[in-house]
Amino acid sequence: MSLLVVGSVALDTLETPAGKVEDALGGAATYFAYAASFFTPVRMVGAVGDDFPSGVLADLEGRGVDIAGVDKLPGTTLRWSGRYHKELNVRDTLHLDLGVFGDYQPEIPASYRDSEYAFLANIDPALQARVLGQLNGPKLVGCDTMNHWIEGSRPVLDELLGRVDMLIVNDEEAELLTGDRNVVKAAAKILASGPKSVLIKRGEYGVIEFSANTIFAVPAYPLEEVIDPTGAGDCFAAGVMGELARSGDTSPAGLRRAIVYGSVMGSFVVEDFGPKRLQSLTREMIDERYRQFVSLTDVPA
Ligand code: AMP
Repeated sequence: MSLLVVGSVALDTLETPAGKVEDALGGAATYFAYAASFFTPVRMVGAVGDDFPSGVLADLEGRGVDIAGVDKLPGTTLRWSGRYHKELNVRDTLHLDLGVFGDYQPEIPASYRDSEYAFLANIDPALQARVLGQLNGPKLVGCDTMNHWIEGSRPVLDELLGRVDMLIVNDEEAELLTGDRNVVKAAAKILASGPKSVLIKRGEYGVIEFSANTIFAVPAYPLEEVIDPTGAGDCFAAGVMGELARSGDTSPAGLRRAIVYGSVMGSFVVEDFGPKRLQSLTREMIDERYRQFVSLTDVPA
């Protein structure tokens, strides 16, 4: 079924303990589109400037991503640079230039309006809300955000949270949103603010999902080396939303399967810089790692 994503499309400079790369392909919507395209056709909404490498959108198109909603605008592409600490869960933003996203007003193509699943990936919540307002009653809407917007655009974000079904954030963002460091308390406050479920990512400690009546946890895949954690959250969201859109099964069991697929996609992308690892991935590799997750979490009743 149709899956729409709106979010940043960017060029990143990344420093991790494994090395440094400049002008790597980045942006939450980019990571999401690459990862979700293994599950279902994706409709992408975002903006790029004149400096964006020409082959990227064609590559995405070849993977079943509809790029009719990606505007090519005069100006520069969003640029972000970040440096990770030895403890990879901690990173500093060294530089952020919104470029063409600064005064971008997305207008989605008419062909996108009937999207049944939508993911509002990390970008200004005003843009997330604008795109959500252009959809004709989607079945399930997921949402992400980050410290930049939680601190700088709180009223708009709060209003948006009242309109989404699922919030996917990391533990730091959950704490910033609620003032609670404890994820159980933070999740309860988030659920009270609108979303029917909240997925809290905890880096190398995995992910934990809360809804009114359920709690579900999945560990992170045990990797020998993480090269670059950028985009792990977006790829996690892509596996979750991609699998839900593919199966149409939003039951508790369907959601559990989707969360494991999310964990699979997050575990792959960190194996190389930027979205590079996704470009060499196959559906067979994804399903093989899913099976490894099943045995990793197989506990006797
Ligand atoms: P993640 O690692 O999942 O937080 O996503 C990283 C991506 O988010 C990078 O590729 C950046 O280009 C992008 N990004 C960083 N800061 C922002 C921001 N304030 N708004 C939108 N996208 C951002």
